[in-house]
Amino acid sequence: MIHGSCLCAEVTFEIDESKIIMMNNCHCANCRKVTGADYGTFIQISPQDFNWLSGEEYVSTYDSSPGNHRAFCKKCGSRMPQTSDASPFTTIPAGSLDADPKVTPNVNIFTGSKAPWNIIDDSLPSSIDMGTPEFWAKLFPQPEK
Ligand SMILES: [Zn+2]
Ligand SMILES: [Zn+2]
Repeated sequence: MIHGSCLCAEVTFEIDESKIIMMNNCHCANCRKVTGADYGTFIQISPQDFNWLSGEEYVSTYDSSPGNHRAFCKKCGSRMPQTSDASPFTTIPAGSLDADPKVTPNVNIFTGSKAPWNIIDDSLPSSIDMGTPEFWAKLFPQPEK
């Protein structure tokens, strides 16, 4: 297990890094706004491989679109792990981890919305949007949902 935390350290959590399903770079406008960066890098993991350790009461959410609960620490504003009604996975903002998860991004998504100054890493599979079922089937032989 490795730990993650927010900037003020009120919120801490752990994930089982051996169970990481994927790490994606999301270039959508919502991820750019909420991170203030070129794109968001997120780890997908099953809910049973994630635990809050402290400060869950500091975690608030904002629904950036229906069912997409953007979580953040209400004391320091750091992005925090979240769930979405559209996905079976818990999403971990990779920058909140305090140790090396021993994975690197597998995929770029929503490159159609990328920041004009950002140069996409073309060595990764990329989708201009969420990606079709065929796109995901090629990356992950087992169906995800
Ligand atoms: Zn905090
Ligand atoms: Zn996004």
